[in-house]
Amino acid sequence: MKVVLKNLTKRFPSRDKKHPEDVIAVNNFDFTIPDGKLIGLLGPSGCGKSTTLNLISGLEKPTRGQIFFGEDDVTKLPAENRGIGLVFQNYALYPHLTVRQNILFPLQNLKGKDKMTKQEMETAAIGAAKLVQIDNLMQRKPAELSGGQQQRVAIARALVKMPKVLLLDEPLSNLDARLRLQTREEIRRIQKETKITTIFVTHDQEEAMSICDQIVVMKDGVVHQIGAPQEVYDNPKNLFVAKFLGTPPINVFEGNVKGGKLFIGKEEIMDTPDLKDGEVYITIRPEGFKHDSEGVLSLELERIEVMGRDISVIAHHDNCQNVDIRAIISSDNVIDTSKATVRFNLNPKKVFVFDKTSEERLL
Ligand code: ATP
Repeated sequence: MKVVLKNLTKRFPSRDKKHPEDVIAVNNFDFTIPDGKLIGLLGPSGCGKSTTLNLISGLEKPTRGQIFFGEDDVTKLPAENRGIGLVFQNYALYPHLTVRQNILFPLQNLKGKDKMTKQEMETAAIGAAKLVQIDNLMQRKPAELSGGQQQRVAIARALVKMPKVLLLDEPLSNLDARLRLQTREEIRRIQKETKITTIFVTHDQEEAMSICDQIVVMKDGVVHQIGAPQEVYDNPKNLFVAKFLGTPPINVFEGNVKGGKLFIGKEEIMDTPDLKDGEVYITIRPEGFKHDSEGVLSLELERIEVMGRDISVIAHHDNCQNVDIRAIISSDNVIDTSKATVRFNLNPKKVFVFDKTSEERLL
């Protein structure tokens, strides 16, 4: 089921007398979520991710705009009639009910043509439990389960009605690092098996990039970029997107264009015949540095960290905004740590240039 958002906008009253202007939690969001895909809504805290999800689920009403499931306008439809499955960060399981009873719960309230027999409900509950691999835990209560198992129960409960759209709001936040990794792979597997259009909210860019078909990068209620994770990583539209994606983060330098050449400080790092003279931000991905004793850019060497296959060179430069510059290079490189400086050439595909004022991409 495709989901269409048309000029979706949500304003909340401020309630702050000093700043009486409304909070625009979601601003003119226009997007078609393709059928059967996993989409990640990604952005820093307060950017409007959860509000967008709540608008799609029907828990919030938009101030303006429309939502379609397929060809049907669901903007005014109550949440319970939208055919959605919802999973939250805090699992929200009923503590006094067993796993089986928790999963059965949404089916017991079905009315009219949707009403199921006891046998049909049992079959559906077992099917959902098998999908998330908890069918051996059906008699336990939530308190007798690990966090990861509880979250699987919550996912099974959301899936049992075979929703048209599955909405996941930071579903991995309460899990430890190892379980997060495992559960995110599980979510991907389940989504591929069921082919349910799924919208996944997270502030963790690595999480979104690793499992989503497309990511939507948001800030202050505004969508900054939508695309396949690699495409957005390789072609950020603006400085915010470039800085938000990538671990370690991209290195941001203040630089200049002069006579068709790009400078960091006094060093000329690249030809840029199409750019006008002026101040710019030059950003370099950590993997964009190539160690070369004759290289175009010299950095103050701080230390190196060995990471097995790669090494991370930690350095400084007066024109760099990052506290530490990180260059990730192959461990085949030999860095002389007795020297005060280290020089690099740059992979032009990993260097982006942004306008100093608008912060939009120039190159
Ligand atoms: P987080 O990752 O911290 O959950 P988020 O990206 O999901 O953040 P939202 O919860 O959608 O962000 O909030 C977006 C903005 O709307 C924030 O500025 C928030 O304070 C504001 N907001 C959200 N709900 C309400 C509300 N009910 N009343 C007033 N303002 C709200």
